[in-house]
Amino acid sequence: MLFECAHRERSERMSPTADPIAHFGAMIDRCYDYAEAAKAAGRPIVGIMCEFTPREIILAANAVPVCLCGGSAATIPAAEQVLPTNLCPLIKSTFGYHLTGNNPFLNWADLIVAETTCDGKKKMFELLGESKPMHVLELPHKANAPEALAYWTDEVRKLKTALETRFGLQITDADLRRAIRLMNRERGLRRRLAQLMRHDPPPLTGRQLLEFKSIISGMEPDLDQYESALRLLTARTAHTATTVDNRARVLLTGVPLVHGAERVLELIENSGAVVVAMENCTGLKPILDDVDELDPDPLAAIARKYYHLPCSVLTPNSGRLCTLRELAAAYRPHCVIELIWQACLTYDVESHHVRKLAEEELHLPYLKITTDYSPSDSARITARIEALLETARPD
Ligand code: SF4
Ligand code: SF4
Repeated sequence: MLFECAHRERSERMSPTADPIAHFGAMIDRCYDYAEAAKAAGRPIVGIMCEFTPREIILAANAVPVCLCGGSAATIPAAEQVLPTNLCPLIKSTFGYHLTGNNPFLNWADLIVAETTCDGKKKMFELLGESKPMHVLELPHKANAPEALAYWTDEVRKLKTALETRFGLQITDADLRRAIRLMNRERGLRRRLAQLMRHDPPPLTGRQLLEFKSIISGMEPDLDQYESALRLLTARTAHTATTVDNRARVLLTGVPLVHGAERVLELIENSGAVVVAMENCTGLKPILDDVDELDPDPLAAIARKYYHLPCSVLTPNSGRLCTLRELAAAYRPHCVIELIWQACLTYDVESHHVRKLAEEELHLPYLKITTDYSPSDSARITARIEALLETARPD
């Protein structure tokens, strides 16, 4: 199972490594050790399943925010005993981990924040909530309505109160400001790493860049490793500045590629392309904006940043098209690939707009890939990617 740690000695896992890229390669092991030690020290573990949940509020409560989204096909058969088969694999995998007990982070969770995003997740949360402590964070879906932002700000305030009540503490403005600074620093470092992919050739593959995404946010030791990685990779771009790269540059958009579900990204890059920008929730989307550190009301500032995440569950979701335009200008892709998990209706319907944007406005070849976590269609997907790349080779 993907969330189980490798059988290495803890001392080996905990020792600092001089190679920051290798450091992030052992992400699950490090998160396991970090969460286990935090739990032993009395820090609560709070599970989240969406980028709308403000991690700052959880960190301000001295809790550890862990993303519990499942990326393993192995837990899906267990989930399908309860959930319909024609449901998004991310939802089924997450719930399958719950039924099989194979996700230690989920087992440790003192509270789960259930974000009301898509219908499948909402209804799965009802089942999960039968045996796990849960707080429902209601996301209003009208992207541009001021009253929706006011409602959301109130929901974020209720999350703060729920944490205070459950864990018997008070979250002060000073706690919130500290957490804002920490998360802004983390987002800023990850953003700068992602921006290195603007170089031609980029110093990493998209798959390597994805390794920098951790399931736990706000881990201080990671931030120093991000700094080291930035120094190392910036130097690498200077050395390769004159190298000719004949790989097609890909802008990847659509659903998140959670830990264990990176197959399509690997198929794209194994076909001779490089994914230079990922617009999705495991890529750039959640780290493009920071929380305003100078706002006199830190909680309102947090709510504002998170509400403007351009997810397909919002309507209208024109912010996503603006983001794609900006990413296309900055990262200079030769084509756009959109990944949709099977039965993800919101991203599937929205792909109509994304295709139009790519083909008619950006004049870039576009490919939509709809799949799940099973590798059974890998050969077919590779053939479609190769056909796309024939039309998208660099000049
Ligand atoms: S794609 Fe939407 S629902 Fe999924 S994690 Fe991102 S914000 Fe949440
Ligand atoms: S990928 Fe789509 S269906 Fe699956 S959890 Fe995210 S929004 Fe829901």
